[in-house]
Order: sequence, then C-alpha cells, then structure tokens
Amino acid sequence: MNINSTGSKEKTENLVIIGSGPAGYTAAIYAARANLEPLLITGFQKGGIPGGQLMTTTFVENFPGFPNGVMGPELMDLIKDQALRWGTRLIEEDANSIELADRPFLIKTDSSSIKSHALIIATGARANRLNLPEEEKFWGHGISACAICDGATPQFRDETLGVVGGGDSACEEAVFLTKYGSHVNLFIRSESLKASAAMADRVKGNPQINLHWNTEVIGLKGDNWLTGLQVKCRKTDQEKSISLKGLFYAIGHTPNTDLFKGQLALNQNGYLITEPGRPETSIEGVYGAGDVADPEWRQGVTAAGSGCKAALAAERWLSKNNLSKLHIRSSKEPSPTQTTKKTEDSSELNYSPEKFWQKGSYALRKLYHESKKPLLVVYTSPNCGPCYVLKPQLKRVLDELEGKAYGIEIDIENDQEIAKQAGINGTPTIQLFANKSLKKQWTGVKQRSEFLEAIKNLLEFGE
Ligand SMILES: Cc1cc2nc3c(=O)[nH]c(=O)nc-3n(C[C@H](O)[C@H](O)[C@H](O)COP(=O)(O)OP(=O)(O)OC[C@H]3O[C@@H](n4cnc5c(N)ncnc54)[C@H](O)[C@@H]3O)c2cc1C
Repeated sequence: MNINSTGSKEKTENLVIIGSGPAGYTAAIYAARANLEPLLITGFQKGGIPGGQLMTTTFVENFPGFPNGVMGPELMDLIKDQALRWGTRLIEEDANSIELADRPFLIKTDSSSIKSHALIIATGARANRLNLPEEEKFWGHGISACAICDGATPQFRDETLGVVGGGDSACEEAVFLTKYGSHVNLFIRSESLKASAAMADRVKGNPQINLHWNTEVIGLKGDNWLTGLQVKCRKTDQEKSISLKGLFYAIGHTPNTDLFKGQLALNQNGYLITEPGRPETSIEGVYGAGDVADPEWRQGVTAAGSGCKAALAAERWLSKNNLSKLHIRSSKEPSPTQTTKKTEDSSELNYSPEKFWQKGSYALRKLYHESKKPLLVVYTSPNCGPCYVLKPQLKRVLDELEGKAYGIEIDIENDQEIAKQAGINGTPTIQLFANKSLKKQWTGVKQRSEFLEAIKNLLEFGE
C-alpha cells in the first residue's frame, strides 16, 4: 500500500479520535495505553454534547461494573478520567471539516488544523424526534428514545405507555415494554406496520398492545411529568386525548456522518459502513466505532467494545506502516486520577470570600449583597448532563480571571425558592450579575470564550 504522505514538516498526529461518547473515550484509553498519545476531539454542539448520549440520561443500569447503576454523566466522567490518566489529549470543539483524499488526513476545528495518520470516527447518532411543542420539557420526564434503557424506570411500572413508530424497532419496543407497563399503545402513522411479518404478528397477537392506525401524535400534556397525549387520525382529522405516563420514540436515528459524505462509504440511512464485525471503513487507516457505524445495537457497552476494536486496529495498522511515533513515559504507571471533588453546600462555617467557586444560597446571598465583583450564577440540577459539561468550563473561566469574579452553583432542586425567584425554567441557566443587577443570561452549553468575554467587558467597561 502506498501511504501517500505529503511530507509536511508540521506535526502529524498518530491518531485522532472524533467523538467523546463511550466509543471515543474507550478508543482513547486503548490508544493512550499503547503510547500513541491520541488526540480526541470531544465535539461541542454539532452532534450532541461532550460525553455523548449518556450525558442526557439519568440512571444507566446495564453498564457492566456498576451493580447499583450509575448516573450517565457520572459514568462518562469516569471513562473520560481514565482516558486522560493515560495521556489522551483533548480538543473541546467540533470537527468542522475532514479531508481524507490525501495523507496525512486533515481535520479542522474552530481553532486548529490537525494532520493525522489514522482516524477513529466515533461521532454517534441521535434519535429522531417528533419536534412537538413542549417535547424538550418532557424529554427524560416521560419521553424517551430508548425503551431498553429506560423501560424499567419506576415511573413506568404498571402504567399505560405508548410507542411511536411502525417498524421493527417500534414493534420490539412495544413488546419489550409490556414487561413493565400495564398496557402499551402503538401509534402508527400509516395503515400497516413496516416491521417484519413475524414481528408484526407478535405485536398484533399481544393482548397488552393496542394498535392505533393512521395516528399522529400532535400534543403532549402534563405538569412535571408526561400524563397524556393529543392524537389525530390522519384519515378523518378527528382528535382525541390519551392518558399515559411514558412515550417512547422509535422513529429512527440519524448518524452524525455529514462530515464524511462523499468521502467514506455510508449505507442508505447514512451509517458508516465498516467491514462486517470489524472497525475498518472504506479508507485504510480510518475506523468507525459506536453508534455511528451501528444501526442495530446502539448501547453504551457495544459502543465501548467497538471503540476498543477500533483502537487496536489503528495501532496495528500504524505499526505495520511504520507510522507511529510512540510517546515515552517518564514513569510506567501514571499517577492515580483526581476524581472531581463535589463542592459542598456553603454555610456560615465553610463560606469564604477567598473561594472563587462556591455552592448554594448562603454564598449567593453573601456575595450578591457584599461583593462588587462580577458574579456568575449557574443553575443546575442533578440529572442535567449539560451541567456536568458546563461547570468545569466555568471554573476554568474563573481560574483564568484569578479571583476578579465569583462563581456560584445553585442546585434548583435544593434551592427551589431561589430558582423560582430567578425565573429559572431549565438547566443549565447562567446569569451574570454585577452590583446587584442582572447583566446577561445564557441557557445551555456555550463556548468558554463567551463567558470570559462578558466578564472581561464588565470588569473593563462596567457593561
Ligand atoms: C436518553 C438515552 C438513554 C440511554 N440509556 C442507555 C442505557 O441506559 N444503557 C446503554 O447502554 N445505552 C443507553 N443509551 C444508548 C447509548 O447512549 C449510546 O449507544 C452510546 O452513547 C453510543 O456511544 P457513541 O460513543 O457511539 O456515541 P455518542 O454517545 O452519541 O457520542 C458521540 C460523540 O460524538 C461527538 N460528535 C458528534 N459530531 C461531532 C463532530 N462533528 N466533531 C466532534 N465530535 C462530534 C458528540 O459530541 C459526542 O461526544 C441511551 C441513549 C439515550 C439517547
């Protein structure tokens, strides 16, 4: 094979991994342990959030090694720490473009142009949504895109549930959910199932499943949790209400492969095509791992397993072609990882104006009333994956400002009254105050530079 390298003098990476879900980080663990010093582009907003889909869920009960379950964001933090401990380097941005026609491959992010001999694509997939009004509010509060993952949740036990879709996945999910729910409604847009005949027969023959033909879900009801739906018959336009406690979307997934269209072989639904049971894609040195190359299984553990295969394959290929520059470690065993310490709730006892990051209403009141420095208040909740992503970013911003501004975390479940007064209706929400007045507000994960710039403007120009 001719590895047609351009011979540039700029540094060429051994291996770049794109994506920071279980597939990307597992690939990084293996590659880092093989002294390849991989560079991992975490993603930021394009195809989900850093940490991937598990950042958007609560308890993961089926990942081996956690007999009592583990919160999705916590699991991803642990896998990330493991990858970092062995020397993985991170770029916390999206990959904006990839050029695979020449070697080394070229990957561009907002801030860098990176050359790499090998590439692992682990950009995942996202569940398709109906995009109904209030869908976001009920996501994780009655609506899920993964019956296998969430079906056993206590809130669904012995309740009426619903599945949207008419293909094999929808039928499988409906049958699966009869184990937990008292009854399952299957909402099918047309007058037939697209599922295989055997699957369709299982659904039709199941007395716990009620089929709603030609039916479209048009509205969601509930307060903090989904309690019902408004549906419409597509033939007669007649509407009716249905009470249920859980709705599962089985209307397909969209793999994050836009960057590779026209460069790598993709199947008709846009998934990366790899060698059967293997990670190799249609270009040598490029490997696919996780949901992006897996239209069928799409689980945390299968993604992690395929990340492992991709890293081992990349390592062998680099070594066979004499392309790897191995990192020499100063000690055989890296020092144990520092697991992030939880910030304790502030009180009279532990409050200090010297700390740039504190938590809870006590510190908020003190700093709001007594300090003239800019105050960044981040409203979080325990199940909010994006909050896990955001907090270390904000801490880094405050670190860079060396004490010129404060950060306070408010857990809206613990400090409900404060969240109510502040008009918070989603997490993460970030408010920037100065001299007791609200200067700026953001919702969701934003680039670190936005916060830094806003605080610097306040410090410099008072606005
Ligand atoms: C709500 C929910 C609950 C789930 N619960 C479970 C469960 O309980 N157990 C289980 O095993 N599985 C569960 N799953 C499935 C599981 O999350 C996925 O199978 C798994 O996360 C796939 O891992 P992955 O690494 O392939 O991709 P993902 O987790 O999707 O990660 C993809 C990564 O790629 C990044 N990315 C995308 N585009 C770019 C780009 N252009 N540049 C850089 N980075 C990019 C994203 O930011 C993300 O970090 C659940 C899924 C959902 C949605």
